[in-house]
Amino acid sequence: MPELIPVFDLKSEINIIYDEVLESIQEVLKSGQFIMGEQVAAFEKEVADYLGVRHAIGVNSGTDALIIGLRSVGIGKGDEVITTPFTFFATVEAIHQIGAVPKFVDIENCTFNIDSRKIEEAITSKTKAILPVHLFGHAAEMRTIMDLAKAYDLKVVEDTAQAFGGEYHGQKLGTIGDVGCFSFFPTKNLGAYGDGGLIVTNDDNVAEIARKLRVHGGKNKYNNEMFGYNSRLDEIQAAILRIKLRYVQSWNEKRRKVAKIYSERLKEISNLVLPMEKGGIKHVYHQYTVRIVNGNRDNIYEQLLARHVQTMIYYPLPVHHLPVYRAQNIDLNLPVAESISKQVLSLPIWPHIEDKQVEYVCNTLQSLLS
Ligand SMILES: *Cc1c(COP(=O)(O)O)cnc(C)c1O
Repeated sequence: MPELIPVFDLKSEINIIYDEVLESIQEVLKSGQFIMGEQVAAFEKEVADYLGVRHAIGVNSGTDALIIGLRSVGIGKGDEVITTPFTFFATVEAIHQIGAVPKFVDIENCTFNIDSRKIEEAITSKTKAILPVHLFGHAAEMRTIMDLAKAYDLKVVEDTAQAFGGEYHGQKLGTIGDVGCFSFFPTKNLGAYGDGGLIVTNDDNVAEIARKLRVHGGKNKYNNEMFGYNSRLDEIQAAILRIKLRYVQSWNEKRRKVAKIYSERLKEISNLVLPMEKGGIKHVYHQYTVRIVNGNRDNIYEQLLARHVQTMIYYPLPVHHLPVYRAQNIDLNLPVAESISKQVLSLPIWPHIEDKQVEYVCNTLQSLLS
């Protein structure tokens, strides 16, 4: 048996850019400027260019990007926001944090994303926004979502935390709706070496509000116009992100190559459903998530671990089943999200995973399922 194959590993990446990163941190140290200096400004410009969007605003985390993003497009107390129940809790937490109310719409079982065909029936007079999540790096159905938003005068806030560099019919994810929100948590496709996040928008007004909200609600110091946050990206993280931005395209391609090997090697195994990539979409495989459909997922997880393959269950519970909602006794019927959460298993993937590691994962999974 090989050494444990983790589900994600930063070691090889850090080796590749170690000297560059060290040099950039030294530069920041020499500058004596640690918050909102040259590095943040340069990163914001470079990342906006890469994504093809007018404004990019660095913040503290992906969670803050969602909170500030929602507020920047005018969402607030009592407003209903349509979103997916199959996501990391932060998506929904952000909606609650600003006093708005999440309305869950079930997901598609092929991409795990919000089922755009079911959104319209969830729209009420209180609905103000749709918050799709491009889960695992695969785009949500943005065309339908944008059409609905136009017809019902809703804002669209994209949770792009897992899909940096992903595309929908040639457009970069995060730049299609009114505002896009990214996370630079170290495991994300573009990850810092600490916390960080980003808000992007083509709307000058939205950008101005977001810039104010991240520094206590004022354009100028000591001239606070609203209640904001302390949510700034720091210089060291921005300097590291500038380096990694230069690699992210090729590292996303590497992820796609790994996914291709998995999909080739694992096809035609019984009780195993592989992730799909819809036409016109560039999946960036933040996760390579399969479904074990014989009811044996938890057992397969344990068996893989015993054979030194670490996998992850993203997510074991749909959001509406989390303890935080238990007291509210909410009775929702979201059958796809509920059944999918019992089937999903995310396999090891990162840009520099070795072929022989992928091969071992495939062989082990195949032997367990046949
Ligand atoms: C990681 C993540 C977030 C939160 O990002 P942080 O930087 O950890 O705050 C939000 N939504 C989704 C879908 C995520 O995966």
